[in-house]
Amino acid sequence: MTYINKLPKKSRKDDTEKRKERKKFYNSKIWLDLRERKLKKSPICEICIVEGRVTAANQVHHEKGIMNYDVLDYEKATDYDSLVSICSQCHGKIHGKNNKDNNNNSNDNNK
Ligand SMILES: [Zn+2]
Ligand SMILES: [Zn+2]
Repeated sequence: MTYINKLPKKSRKDDTEKRKERKKFYNSKIWLDLRERKLKKSPICEICIVEGRVTAANQVHHEKGIMNYDVLDYEKATDYDSLVSICSQCHGKIHGKNNKDNNNNSNDNNK
């Protein structure tokens, strides 16, 4: 395995660039087609199913991600096998987006 702790510190500008790159991809015809194909084939959230729930999927997640460090990896992004049909709730969870608490200050001792 490779160590990746030598990445140079990036400014916020790069984040914006990355976001732009992703946005561009997610608006591309190739992605919209791929996404539609995936959702047609597996219209049920694949995460919920594992947990015994049946939820309509309305998003498609890239299991392997689409970024190769700072660059959008086109091959990964268009790899049908790495797509996962998913509902927005599960998707949010996977990406660590909790609607509410963004306060992850050090250790939370909530029990
Ligand atoms: Zn789900
Ligand atoms: Zn995702």
